[in-house]
Amino acid sequence: MSKYWSELVRGLVPYVPGEQPKVKNLIKLNTNENPYPPSPKVTQAINSFDKNRLRLYPDPDSDILKQALADSYGVSKSQVFVGNGSDEILALAFMAFFKQASPILFPDISYSFYPVYCNLFEIKYQQLPLNEHYEIVLEDYASDNGGIIFPNPNAPTGRVLGLEQLRSLLQRNTESVLIVDEAYIDFGGESAIALVAEFPNLLVVQTFSKSRSLAGSRVGFAIGAEDLIEGLERVKNSFNSYPLDMLAVVAAVAALEDQAYFKQTQQKIIASRDWLDGELQGLGFEVLPSTANFIFARHPAHDAAQLFAALRQRKILVRYFSSARIDQFMRISIGTQQECEALVTALKDILA
Ligand code: PMP
Repeated sequence: MSKYWSELVRGLVPYVPGEQPKVKNLIKLNTNENPYPPSPKVTQAINSFDKNRLRLYPDPDSDILKQALADSYGVSKSQVFVGNGSDEILALAFMAFFKQASPILFPDISYSFYPVYCNLFEIKYQQLPLNEHYEIVLEDYASDNGGIIFPNPNAPTGRVLGLEQLRSLLQRNTESVLIVDEAYIDFGGESAIALVAEFPNLLVVQTFSKSRSLAGSRVGFAIGAEDLIEGLERVKNSFNSYPLDMLAVVAAVAALEDQAYFKQTQQKIIASRDWLDGELQGLGFEVLPSTANFIFARHPAHDAAQLFAALRQRKILVRYFSSARIDQFMRISIGTQQECEALVTALKDILA
């Protein structure tokens, strides 16, 4: 605490990201990164990038990337926004749409950055409980609100909602913006981008960090109606003119162009997830059905914090949250098949 801090800063409770360990040879299954490298086309694009250009500022609008995304998702360029990771886009969107008289709504178990943004931007919020199966109950979200946000699939549960469920919420909720945070949509869910043409108050946010193996590049994007995107641009241009660096744009465009590689890594991760789900159930774990690149699991006879610590001793890092209702779960990112097998071997040893 410093006497120089503003009152706002004194009251902040910052988000704590998963550990990026400095020690080597850990099996890292704690931050939902992709275990496979980016497409070889990304390497080629970065290698052939003319480094002289780095003395110049990048295109403030990242037009090349926006156009590639527009072509890829069948929308117009004016419906696309890009940012320095989807976290940045979420922050800008909270500022652009959620500072309203009524509180915004999100699930009690969800991405823990949402309440952090609310505190930073002084936005009122209400958290609606998941049901006993850890599902979002969309009927609860039809009340008067200043906005709605949830990840789909939800994090850290991995449970997904279908397009018809989202459509029925959008039909009832027409007076505030719904943000669907699709960080994990490429691992089996159906993207709400398909609903953007129908609903002027829907903003879909995605990232290159997970399914495109570019977490280190920090590239996210949002798709929505033109005037929502314009609102985001107004906030962005009041904050940082150049959120995306040239190399990040080059990498993202190359990743987007290599659909074959994208599909191949996506299918490998889905196959390993389904394999791991079965193995963990065989060891007595309860595993929530996941449509993400992680699974959320608990064991009726073993304390999650202790399992987390025992795995860490065996150089396997998973994520543990000590919060209410989920403090007996571990969130396990899907690694390579070999890493998943190492995890199962370690758990067999620990449980024995
Ligand atoms: N949304 C959710 C639900 C996430 O889990 C994450 C990753 N921590 C993000 C958004 C942000 O991802 P990024 O900033 O890397 O795009």
